[in-house]
Amino acid sequence: MSRTETRGLIQDVVDKLKQEEFRDEFLNNEHGYVFDSAAEILKTTDKIIKSYIRVSRDNGTIARIPAYRVQHNNISGFYKGGVRFSPNVHEEEVENLAILMTIKNALHELPFGGGKGGVYVHPKDFSTKELNLISKKYVQRLKIDLGPTHDIPAPDLGTNETVIDWMVGEYKTIAPGESYMNSFTGKSVDNGGVAGRREATGIGTFLSYYHLISEWFNNAEQAKVTRVKSWDVLERLRTKEEPIKVSVQGFGNVGSIAAQEAAKSEIDHIVVAVSDEDVTLHNKNGLDIKTLIAYIKEHGQLPKTEEQVNTAGIQATIDHPTSVLTSECDLLILAAVEDQITEENMHEVSAEILLEGANAPITAKADDYFEKNGVIVIPDILANAGGVHVSYLEWMQANVPNRYTKEDVISEMSKQMKKISNRVYDHYFYAEDHETTRFLCYKLALMRLITLLYKHGK
Ligand code: GLU
Repeated sequence: MSRTETRGLIQDVVDKLKQEEFRDEFLNNEHGYVFDSAAEILKTTDKIIKSYIRVSRDNGTIARIPAYRVQHNNISGFYKGGVRFSPNVHEEEVENLAILMTIKNALHELPFGGGKGGVYVHPKDFSTKELNLISKKYVQRLKIDLGPTHDIPAPDLGTNETVIDWMVGEYKTIAPGESYMNSFTGKSVDNGGVAGRREATGIGTFLSYYHLISEWFNNAEQAKVTRVKSWDVLERLRTKEEPIKVSVQGFGNVGSIAAQEAAKSEIDHIVVAVSDEDVTLHNKNGLDIKTLIAYIKEHGQLPKTEEQVNTAGIQATIDHPTSVLTSECDLLILAAVEDQITEENMHEVSAEILLEGANAPITAKADDYFEKNGVIVIPDILANAGGVHVSYLEWMQANVPNRYTKEDVISEMSKQMKKISNRVYDHYFYAEDHETTRFLCYKLALMRLITLLYKHGK
């Protein structure tokens, strides 16, 4: 979904809410303006900061690197969202991702607004020393726009706890007096972070899907008598004799953990394909996820040649990286980058459930196509919120004397993911035909944002 598509969806949802019973609450109070204001406010962005940072490279040259922070909206709380280091970073992308954070945080009832940052670099092309310098310069440039009660960054694509620790270190030095512990989340545990952060998004992503099917499977009797939305897909999965087949695009923090959760879940799943930037590994009878995760830990990437596959004792055939998208499966987990399923390849997707672990991997046209063809899409703003739920715990932890354990963190995040997912699915089963899961998620989020806007008196 591009920025234009996201804004279009916001307008459609506001128009829909205006017609529904939700409207009465406001219109009876002669405050109908609030809907138009909401559309206007959410379709525009509070602040966009673009800067060029200057970094001395190891080879003596000086690089001029575009860096962004976008503060989309703070109706529900301080601006919050990750900073990515990626060669795809540009203003429109970062702004779109900041809008998604506003919607995601509102849907998940977190006391945060939406922000996002990005630096136009491919981390693989820079040394650790250079990346350290880039992280520090980023904070120097943005110092006045960040802060624990204003805008709180976290890791995202291409960044991690090491980058965040560097940023916190710089913030502490240049903003003395500020509560630097609360100024960033995603820090290392030794630096005030929480255990379980790395796994949280992958576990949460799988849970957002698992609650849909387990809710359905556990209500089999009801399923027989009630014909509700997506009945066919859910019944087919429930009555299937073989395990549910899963393909996973992207084998980083989100994809590998979601694959691991699938492989060990109570309802029988096998992972038949996984991919990274260079390769897809296929095995119709199920890949050994434990071995693949161990391989990634050691080599930083999936095996790419037959020799590497054989030496590692992995049973798999090798294919090009996008073959994962069209592999034969029931569930496709998209955990790589944006715009992976478009009008070009949507007809070739065989999965009946698509799960967005990454942000915006499916375009609006493809989304419509899947909806018309009975395919269930579990959208990014519902599925990948595990990370920001854990950010909230970390941010809270800075104010309390006790430390959360990894078990506390995963269990609290799981509880929240269950609550919000089930709320969405309760609406989804009985939704009108054209209302996709994405539409419903936006509806729930916008209802919250409009309520807050109204309560705040604009
Ligand atoms: N980067 C993550 C996201 O896109 C986490 C953001 C945060 O924790 O602030 O949801």
